[in-house]
Amino acid sequence: MSDPTPATDPAAHDPRLHHDPVSGRTVFVAPKRAMRPHDADRPANSDSTTDPRDWCPFCAGNEHRTPPAWLRAPAAATEPWRARIVPNLYPFAVEDPFAAAVAGGQAPLVPRPAHGVHDVVIESAAHERTVAAVDADAWRDVWELCRQRLDTLAARSDLAWATIFKNSGPQAGASLEHLHSQLVALDFVPAVMQAEMAAVDRAPRLFADAITAADRSGRIVAERADVVLLVPDAPRQPFEAWILPRTPEPFFHATTPARGAAVADLTQLYVTRLERLVPGSHFNWWLHQLPFGSRPSAALRAAWHWHLEILPRLSAFAGFELATGCHITPLSPDESAARLRRPVTP
Ligand SMILES: [Zn+2]
Ligand SMILES: [Zn+2]
Repeated sequence: MSDPTPATDPAAHDPRLHHDPVSGRTVFVAPKRAMRPHDADRPANSDSTTDPRDWCPFCAGNEHRTPPAWLRAPAAATEPWRARIVPNLYPFAVEDPFAAAVAGGQAPLVPRPAHGVHDVVIESAAHERTVAAVDADAWRDVWELCRQRLDTLAARSDLAWATIFKNSGPQAGASLEHLHSQLVALDFVPAVMQAEMAAVDRAPRLFADAITAADRSGRIVAERADVVLLVPDAPRQPFEAWILPRTPEPFFHATTPARGAAVADLTQLYVTRLERLVPGSHFNWWLHQLPFGSRPSAALRAAWHWHLEILPRLSAFAGFELATGCHITPLSPDESAARLRRPVTP
């Protein structure tokens, strides 16, 4: 698909938020996104024998093609980096100098600048395409960097909420194959999060009950340090999975080192098994932790479990899904869990 022609007025490049009052949807109007690099832009003569450092902005050696890093692992600049977090050159949220401290974190009702932070998490120095290829210790470093960055952003009064999300493969929205995720902080709480928070407000044991039900029906795929990888009761696609702690915890950025490492290990285990079950499958994942600070009620903070939702993109979302918000999946959650539980054998 060819990109639309960007606007010629430079001021028009700054992303803005528009609100649809009928659906409650928020849309980021971000013309500069049309200019972001794409694997399809690589030199026409490149193939599997071409060195990706010739064209990939995320490879070690091409640091000049990204802004300076906010964080790197290891921290010492004298050692080669294994992961870096850098500002996104094509952000859909930018620092608005006129942004004020946010009160309720409500979505905008009239168009306004999309104020926030939009980073790229470059998850390997080499041109890796899969989480499964990264050394386990280096992969733990990636999650620790994300935790630190979220922890820093959480202290800002002008930001309401943040997430980490991964688009793995073109069917999941990735434009570059080099292993990476994105980290976004916004000055409002998106509608999907508002809906989950309202559900947990009404039923504080929702997450605990989901884990108990998964325990009883054999949908726990794996567990590390009190963090579980489970198939939810209503998966949108075969092999959808959630990663969450057994006990409530509102913020991933405030979790223990053991739980942070558990998330790294469980995401790597999940990707290894998904790739065995459906080679080459594309997927998304995203973090749902509570809005920053004391915005959520004490009751909600006591009931929330931060969680990573992992959604394989085995079939496209079609008219029915878009029309209704309902999903159709051909595989039962019990069968998805049973297949994910089988260890990979060499
Ligand atoms: Zn690369
Ligand atoms: Zn969620």
